[in-house]
Parts: sequence; C-alpha cells; structure tokens
Amino acid sequence: MPDAVPLQVRTERAETSPVGEQQGVAGWRLVALVAAGVLVVALPAWSRLGVGAEVVDLPPVPADASASRLLPQVVTVVSGPHAFIASHPDGSPVLPDPCRPMHWTMNTDGMPDGGEDLVREAVGQVSAATGLVFVEDAPTTETIVPDRASVQVERYGDRWAPLLVAVTDDATMAALGGDVAAVAQPTTIEPSGAGSARVVSGQIAVDAEFVADSVRSPKGQASFRMVILHELGHVVGLDHVDDPTQVMHGRTSYLYLGSGDKEGLALAGAGRCFTDT
Ligand SMILES: [Zn+2]
Repeated sequence: MPDAVPLQVRTERAETSPVGEQQGVAGWRLVALVAAGVLVVALPAWSRLGVGAEVVDLPPVPADASASRLLPQVVTVVSGPHAFIASHPDGSPVLPDPCRPMHWTMNTDGMPDGGEDLVREAVGQVSAATGLVFVEDAPTTETIVPDRASVQVERYGDRWAPLLVAVTDDATMAALGGDVAAVAQPTTIEPSGAGSARVVSGQIAVDAEFVADSVRSPKGQASFRMVILHELGHVVGLDHVDDPTQVMHGRTSYLYLGSGDKEGLALAGAGRCFTDT
C-alpha cells in the first residue's frame, strides 16, 4: 500500500517546501524532498522511428531469440488509463519483441547508494508486469549521449546495443533541464516500413541533480525506483496518461503501479515477434 501521498501535481520542483506529511511512517524522517506530489518525472519520451539518419547494418537474429514468446503473456484483471507512444498503420502499438530478451546495462558512475539494486527492482517489476524478459549485461562505461549509436560492435558486439541506464546532467542531455528527473529514449526500428516497427533497446538518462536529492531518505530511494519504473514504461512503449495516480503520469508521486500502468504494461508485453534482425 503506498503511503497516502496527496495527489497534488505541481509545476515546479519543490524540494525546499516544507511538507506536512504526517502519515507517521515509522523511522522515516520527514524530509521535504519527495513529499507531497513533488516527484518530477520525465518529459514525454522521444522515440526514434526507423534507424533515423543513422545507417546501420541490421544485426543478425540473436542466439537467445526464440520462435515463441519467452514468458507467458500477462493477463490483468484490472484496467485503467494507459497510452502508447507510437502505433503501426493498423493501429496496434509499437512494442518490444516478446520472443527475445531485452538486454540492458548500467553505468554505475554517479548512481546513488543502493541505486543499482533499485534499478534492478524496477526492471524486475516491469518484467513481471509485461511478461518480457530482461537480461542484465555486465556494467558498462558507456555514457549517455543524445544521439546514441544503435549498434556498437566494438563495445557490445553485432547486436542492438543494450538498454543503457546511466546518470548524467542537463549539459549532456538538454531534455533533463529544469525539474526533469529522468528521460527515456526508446530505440525503435522499422527495417521494412512502418508495420515492422518495434522497440529493440533504448537509454534512460537520470538527472544527477535528482539522484543527489533521492539518496537522502528511504522514501527518496523509493522515488528513484519509481522514476526508473516510469522510464522503463516508456522504453516498452508506454506514453504518459493524465491520471496522477498512475506511474505513467508525467509528474506523479505515486510509487506503485496503478491499474492503468498494469494494464498498459501487460499489453506492452504482448507485441509481435520478429525474425528479420
Ligand atoms: Zn515520462
């Protein structure tokens, strides 16, 4: 049960405002940060349809791809507001391929104390809610760049570069300016037209300023995990919703998946399988 954070949606970062959060969570000091609805989450993700201006040879079908989905499809009994970033011409959403794992990697430089495990927890939550398999690769020294190469043979081999989770700042990633805590950039390819679009990877850039704040309390750490959860939602194809009780709201303070998040993630895990790359 999430502790009852008020549903205020604020337009500015408010970590210095005193917040009367009196839920009496034992042992938690009342830090103003991440109290009432101040959690700032990312702007809408921007997705790259096609390999864009980047010209790459499509990597081969990876050895860990399967002819059928790797985990059973998640069936939810709950429903609520959810949205997808992009659609195929037939109206179906653009999603990851459930017949292969999505590899991911972390650059631990600048991660808060315990942050690595919080990222893993968020990835585990998204895996459970989508029925998608995520495989953690060895930590990387790759840093966030706005125009990340989709294939980096020397660093990762001839495959889609894994989903990168790393801390950076708004000098590197302008989208992190202002009060934005993190930004997701799904890597979407369409080798044979819009109907073939799918998400193969991405990157999640976490703002160093947000990280510095988030390490101050257990609640801040929970917020850090939620921010990662939100960004992972973008990576698997989800867009923002207007309902602030959903993690996929652009500025929610809710720390746990809502009904629409659960329904959206279950649908996000029910995409098509591909065998062309
Ligand atoms: Zn977002």
